[in-house]
Amino acid sequence: MDDYVDAERDEPRGPGGVIPCPILDDVSIFTALKDDPEKRFWRCVGAVNGCTTTWVIPRVKGRVLKHAATCRYISADLQQKVNEELGDDAPGARVARNALNQSVSQSAVPAAHGTIQSAGGSQPSVYEMSKLAWYEMLDYEILKFMCCSGMPPHVLNLKEWKSMWACAVPKYKPVSGSNMEDTQVPREAARIRVLALQYLQTCERLTISFDGGTTRRPQSVYTMHVTTEDKKVFLWAGDEASAESHTADHIYQILKAVIDIIGPHRFRGISSDNTGNTTGARNRIHSDYPWILILPDPCHRLNLLCNDICKIPYFKPHIKNLRRTVKYFKKSTFASAHLRIRRKKLKIRRGLKSIGKTRFGTIYHSGRK
Ligand SMILES: [Zn+2]
Repeated sequence: MDDYVDAERDEPRGPGGVIPCPILDDVSIFTALKDDPEKRFWRCVGAVNGCTTTWVIPRVKGRVLKHAATCRYISADLQQKVNEELGDDAPGARVARNALNQSVSQSAVPAAHGTIQSAGGSQPSVYEMSKLAWYEMLDYEILKFMCCSGMPPHVLNLKEWKSMWACAVPKYKPVSGSNMEDTQVPREAARIRVLALQYLQTCERLTISFDGGTTRRPQSVYTMHVTTEDKKVFLWAGDEASAESHTADHIYQILKAVIDIIGPHRFRGISSDNTGNTTGARNRIHSDYPWILILPDPCHRLNLLCNDICKIPYFKPHIKNLRRTVKYFKKSTFASAHLRIRRKKLKIRRGLKSIGKTRFGTIYHSGRK
């Protein structure tokens, strides 16, 4: 931020142009470099807190909002407004609107892929509108399929995928991989964040849990989950801060933002593993909100309990036998092939289960009949 200085925007030269979007001006600031005032661009409003994201001129609304929806340097309230703006145009939101009102006018439903224009550019007929609603539903179904199957978006660029749709629904044009990645997924994610928040703001006795991990890239990521009383689990935040150290203060700030936006009085518990930073962060949350009870690493403790039970002499010979059996079949492809054949004959669907080295509870599943 020390290198930037706010710049004056050029006034529009005449009528027309892009429709103004107030939220866009809330999250992006027209900026110039201090050393080179001629070099102008847009910066994230979170630059004052450390965000380094910038955009070239002209800024692309979708890209700016996509960043702002998850930028952790922006206030939670502003982020929520961005999510509402983005989510309003998500494929799922369009389908929900169409379901509510099939006869909605085209001005209320933004143009989508596969839109059929009437000859001469006149208003589309009811028949065409129902087709538009159908195509929007296809967009939504493809989006759900891609997300739930974990399929990479570039699959949508394969000519085989396009020709399949050309055969099935000739006038429908499925979205491209980049459209799916840059537009549809961020919009739907924003819509889900809004819906999840609305739901959680009606719940009581919530628990927040968090844990750190490393992805294959590698990136250092902290995930925060919110669990409801009836055991519904919501992945609420994934904080990637590889360039910074995950200090207790850093984790505390993220936790506090999550708790504050949902409502501190709705929470009853906070849980994490027992490292120095995570313990420090949850202690600070507890001192801010004393009714949020600390549940110190129950999963790990339960795991240790299983380990202690396995050490009881009565179980030892059985466990030894079990480990040797599993190991033998794991190493011998010949034996495991014959085991498969015999299982099929005897109609035993369940095969052998390995025992995890650090997950002591898996010994139960391995030894189960
Ligand atoms: Zn940012």
